Amino acid sequence: MIAIDVEEENREIVRRYRQLLRHAKPFLKDNDSKLIRKAFNTALEAHSGTRRKSGEPYIFHPMAVAKICVDEIGLGTTSIISALLHDVVEDTEWTIKEIERDFGKKIARIIDGLTKISGVFEHGSSQQAENFRKMLLTLSEDVRVILVKLADRLHNMRTLDSMPVNKQYKIASETIFLYAPLAHRLGLYAFKSEMEDLYLRYTEPQVFEDLVRKIDVAKETRNKFIKSFIRPIQRSLNEQKLNYVIKGRPKSVYSIWNKMKKQNIPFEEVYDLFAVRIILDVPVENEKAVCWQVYSIVTDFYKPNPDRLRDWISTPKANGYESLHTTVMAKNGQWVEVQIRTHRMDDIAEKGYAAHWKYKDNETTSASGLEQWISKVRDMLEQNDSSALEFVDDFRGNLFNDEVFAFTPKGELKTLPRGATALDFAFEIHSEVGAKCIGAKVNQKLVPINYALKNGDQVEILTSTKQKANEDWLRFVVTSKAKSRIKEGLKEDKKHIVDEGKEILYRKLKHFKIEPNNDTFDKLRAYFNLPNQFELFYQTGKGLIDNKDLRRFKDFKPASTIKSKPSTRISDAKSFEKEIVKVKSDDVLLIGEDMDVIDYKLAKCCNPIPGDSVFGFVTVTEGIKIHRPSCPNAPELLANHGHRVVKAKWASQHMSSFLVSLKIIGTDRVGLINDVTMIISEELKVNMRSMSIDTDTGIFEGEIMLYINDTRHLDLLTSKLEKVEGVVKVSRSEPKE
Ligand code: MN
Repeated sequence: MIAIDVEEENREIVRRYRQLLRHAKPFLKDNDSKLIRKAFNTALEAHSGTRRKSGEPYIFHPMAVAKICVDEIGLGTTSIISALLHDVVEDTEWTIKEIERDFGKKIARIIDGLTKISGVFEHGSSQQAENFRKMLLTLSEDVRVILVKLADRLHNMRTLDSMPVNKQYKIASETIFLYAPLAHRLGLYAFKSEMEDLYLRYTEPQVFEDLVRKIDVAKETRNKFIKSFIRPIQRSLNEQKLNYVIKGRPKSVYSIWNKMKKQNIPFEEVYDLFAVRIILDVPVENEKAVCWQVYSIVTDFYKPNPDRLRDWISTPKANGYESLHTTVMAKNGQWVEVQIRTHRMDDIAEKGYAAHWKYKDNETTSASGLEQWISKVRDMLEQNDSSALEFVDDFRGNLFNDEVFAFTPKGELKTLPRGATALDFAFEIHSEVGAKCIGAKVNQKLVPINYALKNGDQVEILTSTKQKANEDWLRFVVTSKAKSRIKEGLKEDKKHIVDEGKEILYRKLKHFKIEPNNDTFDKLRAYFNLPNQFELFYQTGKGLIDNKDLRRFKDFKPASTIKSKPSTRISDAKSFEKEIVKVKSDDVLLIGEDMDVIDYKLAKCCNPIPGDSVFGFVTVTEGIKIHRPSCPNAPELLANHGHRVVKAKWASQHMSSFLVSLKIIGTDRVGLINDVTMIISEELKVNMRSMSIDTDTGIFEGEIMLYINDTRHLDLLTSKLEKVEGVVKVSRSEPKE
C-alpha cells in the first residue's frame, strides 16, 4: 500500500487540467474557457473524496474522457463540458435540473442521455436492448452523446487493468458487441481498432501476447520489404513534385487474429500484415485527380488486382470514409494493399464525423452522410412494433454488414447493407413500392426480386397492383425496414387468408358430403395435426391443405392387418426400398393405430416416425421392429435375414410423439437461440427434450432432441426453422447410440 500524497495529487490534477485546456485552445471561443473551468470545478467538487478502482482520484477519469474528446475526436467546448460532467448526475447528488441551471439546456440534455445509457448493461438483455434504443433516440438529437460515451468507454477499456477479471470480461464483451461496431459506423477507425485490440488483450491474453510477439519478430523483415517496395514510388512522386507522406501501416492485432480464425490459417500464412498508405497534401479541388494520378504511378511499378480496386473517393462510404484502395503485386509475388488519400480524407478516416464538421464548409465532402445515418436510425426507432431485442439484432446486423451502392434510374444513390436484394431496394424507395414489387430491371436486364445487388447497379423496380407481400420474402431481404414492413403486411394478410380458407373448406366439405360443423373442423384439425382451427383455415386458405388432403381425410379409416412376407436377398438399403415398393401383395403391416394387439417396437437405431417409409423386421425375442430403409443396420438385416422382413406402413397420423434429433447449423447471432426455441415451443407447440449448442468462430451448431408427431409435422418445423435468419441448414441427425 502506498501512502497517498494529497498535495502531489492536487498538483497532478492541476497539471492535467492545464494540459487539457492547452490542447483545446484552438477550438475555444470567447467565453469557452470560463465555462470549462466551471464544469471542471463542479466535477472536481462533486467527485471529491471518491476514487477509482485503481486508487486514483475519480476526477482523473472525466478529465481523461474530455481529453480523448479533444485529442482523438477533435470535439469542442460542449463535448468537453459534457465529458467533464458525464458521471456527475449518475454518481453524485447532483441533478439534471442543477446542471441545466448552471450549464444550460443543451448540456443538460447530453448529460441526461449519458446518464440514462450508463446503466445499459446492468439489467439483463431486454433491458439492455431497450436502453440501447433510448441511447440511439438521444443520439439522434445530439450525436455528441454517443461520441462522449465512446470516449468514456475507450478510457474504461484503457484502464481495465485494475478491474477484477469477471468485470474485465463483461466490459470487454460489451465493447466488442456494441461500442466497437458503433465506432466503426461513425467512422472512428482508430477507436474501433483500439477497442478491438483491448478486447482481445483481456479476453484472450495468451493469444494476444503471442501475436504481439510474432508481429514484433517479423518487424525487421517487414520494414525492409516496405522500404524497397516504396522506393520506386517515392522517386516518381518526387519527380512529379507532389507533397506526400508514405508509410507502411501494420494491421491491428485483432484484425490479424480475425483473419487467422476466419480462414483457419496460422500467423505465418497471413500475408497482408500491413498496408502501404500514401497521404497527399493537395487542395480540395484537385483531390480526386491527384489521387488517381498517384494510382497510376503505383500501378506503373506493380500490377494491380482488378478485383481489389476500391474507389471510395467518387462514392464515399456511408460513414464518411474516403480513400482509394488498390492491391498490387510486389516483385516477390506478394500482394500489398496500397491506400491513397489526402490529409483531409485521412483525418476523417481516423476521427470520423467530428472531422467532417471541421471541413464542413467544403462542398466536396459528404457532410450529409451523418444526417442520412441518423435518419435511418430514426426510421428503425419509429417502428414500435418490433421488440427491442429484435431491434438490436437488426441494428447490429446493419452495423456489421458492409455496404452496397445502387442507383435509381434517375441516378439517385442508395446505400444498402451487403446482401441486399432488389426487394430491399424497392422498400428503400418506398414501402408501397416494396409491397407491390414483382421484379426489377437491373442495368436494363430483368431480374427476380431476390436478385442480390452489386455495387453500381442501376435498379428500376417493377410493380403490380396485384402483388402482395408473402412470407418467403423474409428470407431474402436484409434491411430492417423491409423486414418490418413485410411482417406488417403479412399480419393483415393472414386475416384475409383465414376468412378465405374458411369459405373454401365449407364449399369443399359440402362437395364431399361432409357436414361442415365445428365437430368436423376439430376432426380435421386433429387429422392434420394443427394446434387450432385458425391454423386449419389458414393452411386451407394458403393451399397447403388441398383437395387431395381432404380426400385422404374422407377416405381415412383405421385398419390393421399383419402378414409376414418373405423378401429376396438384397444387400443395400436403396434397392431394398425399391423392392418394398414392388411387393404386390396388399399384406402390409399397418402401424401406429390401435396396434396394441401386435407386438411391435420402433427401432432405436434409426428412430422411425410416422410418415417415414419403413419396414418391419421380425425378431426372435422382441416381436416386430420397425426400421427405416436408410437405417445403418438395414443392409445387414436384409442380406442375412431377408425372409423376416415385413412390408409396413403407417396407418394414420398417430397422436403420440416420437423423439427426433435435429441438427441446426447457421451463423451465430444474438437472438438466434431465442428465435429457434420460440418456433419450437411457442409456434408449433413441440416439446423439447434437450438442446445442446456449440458456437465457435461465429458458427452456430445445435442439436435439439424433440418430440414430434409425424414427418409432416417435422417438415413444417424444418421449413420454419430454415427461415430463421442466420440458420443455414436444418437436418435430421441420426441419434447417437
Ligand atoms: Mn465514465
